[in-house]
Parts: sequence; C-alpha cells; structure tokens
Amino acid sequence: MSPFVTKVQQLSGQNLLACYQCGKCSAGCPVVSQMDILPNQIIRLAQLGLREDLLESKAIWVCASCMTCNVRCPKGINIAEVIEALRQIMLRRREDHVDVKELSDAERADVPPIALISSLRKFTS
Ligand code: SF4
Ligand code: SF4
Repeated sequence: MSPFVTKVQQLSGQNLLACYQCGKCSAGCPVVSQMDILPNQIIRLAQLGLREDLLESKAIWVCASCMTCNVRCPKGINIAEVIEALRQIMLRRREDHVDVKELSDAERADVPPIALISSLRKFTS
C-alpha cells in the first residue's frame, strides 16, 4: 500500500478497500452535478493511490459534508471523512482553492453564509 493510501486511511479512519463500487454514495449526493469526480470515483482513485487526480479535483471542495453518502453506503464507509482527509492533505500543502480574505465585499455579500462557514471550518481542520 502506498504512503498516500495509508495516510488517507489514517486521517479518515476508513478502510478504502471495503468499497465495491456500488455507486450508492454518488446516487444520493445532493451536489454531485457540480463534481468533476463522483464520490464513488473518489474512493476508487484513493484505493489506487492516484494522489494528484484527487488533490487537483474540484469535487473535494464542492462536497458539503452533508454525510448523506455515509448513511447510504452498504459497506459502512464514511466517504465524507475520506473527502475531508483529502482536503486536509491539500491544506497542508498550503495551496487553498479559496481564500476568504481575498474575496471582495461584493463577493462576500453574494456568497451564502453557510458556504463561508464551511470554508472556514475546512481551513482550520
Ligand atoms: S456507497 Fe460505499 S461501497 Fe458503494 S461505491 Fe460508495 S463508498 Fe463504495
Ligand atoms: S458528504 Fe459530500 S460527497 Fe457525501 S453526499 Fe454529502 S456532499 Fe456528497
């Protein structure tokens, strides 16, 4: 197992190899239409250790941490925690996609408060 796969499993506390690609996580995700990689594909890429494909994806930031995928997974995998682990790895590189401090007043007024709160939580995780 590659160090990247081990790290994702350690940070998330999930067994990636338990996933058998049924797709139930993606089928229930409320923001899947905005994702470039679907939740089940995130798990598959993580199993394969395809680090750059995962860390460069928009999907890990689009995820709203709603946990719907967690409750739908027949294998008991907490997909949201896996995605959070990927965000943590990315944040440790200090290459954030969004810097709230850089947003203009007009942009801040336009962004739903929950999105800002979510970003702040992700920045400090
Ligand atoms: S629901 Fe669970 S087993 Fe099915 S694809 Fe998603 S992570 Fe894998
Ligand atoms: S936690 Fe993220 S990936 Fe899972 S259903 Fe919610 S938005 Fe989709």
